[in-house]
Amino acid sequence: MPTRRDDCLFCSIARQGAYVHQAKGFVAINDINPQAPVHILVLPEHHVDTFRDVAEFEAKETKRMLEFVAETAAKVGLTDYRVVVNVGATAGQTVFHLHWHILGGGPASREDVPAAVAIAEANE
Ligand code: 5GP
Ligand code: ZN
Repeated sequence: MPTRRDDCLFCSIARQGAYVHQAKGFVAINDINPQAPVHILVLPEHHVDTFRDVAEFEAKETKRMLEFVAETAAKVGLTDYRVVVNVGATAGQTVFHLHWHILGGGPASREDVPAAVAIAEANE
């Protein structure tokens, strides 16, 4: 059984909500405050506070989680997009239940992650 926290917003959403995509153990929702034309959050039902704790998932769940991120993007018609995980408060994490941001749908998606864009441009 996945772990849940009664006081966790994303545990509650993972139990019940309007999903863009859903599969055993995972849900995808539209972000309430989109930072790109398409901004989806992928949530595992199993609660871990942050990506730092990703080793708490079994190997097959971790693989499935990554596949589910890609499946979700494909399902909404995205071929080009960014996948972002904010790890820790000073990196911008505000909800302490691991989640993956899928950002796509246009150039606006580059505007809100200046550090990532700067790194990408430095590597061009
Ligand atoms: P973080 O800042 O932790 O990486 O991402 C948390 C995200 O959750 C933010 O982009 C925020 O807009 C989104 N969010 C916060 N509360 C809710 C909510 O109640 N519903 C949905 N759909 N998104 C939420
Ligand atoms: Zn949770």
